[in-house]
Amino acid sequence: MFLLIGAGPRVKEIGESQTMICPACGRFSRMTPYVERSELRLFFIPVFKWKKRYLAVAGCCGETFLLDPEVGRAIENGEPATINETNLEFLSEPPVLCEHCKKPVDTTHKYCPHCGKEI
Ligand SMILES: [Zn+2]
Ligand SMILES: [Zn+2]
Repeated sequence: MFLLIGAGPRVKEIGESQTMICPACGRFSRMTPYVERSELRLFFIPVFKWKKRYLAVAGCCGETFLLDPEVGRAIENGEPATINETNLEFLSEPPVLCEHCKKPVDTTHKYCPHCGKEI
């Protein structure tokens, strides 16, 4: 018997928003970089699997992009890095966004860490 417990992405803002033209809707907008860590635990088997990816969320339309890991890592380390169209990729399966503030949220939380409303 396999039971998934504690699965779900944890998302954290890693730097300042950057202004650029949104590749999704074409408006001049702000991109906020995030890092997402996924945790997978199998019941009875102490397996911890960590996946890490960088994301950028557009302030205009809420579209989520996959951010180039090189750029994401640099931003996370506080190094100067520019988010632009060439290091953003459309995400096939977007993370869960808070329906109130449209920011990515940890689905294991009951309340949005950004706006405090119930998810
Ligand atoms: Zn947009
Ligand atoms: Zn929210």
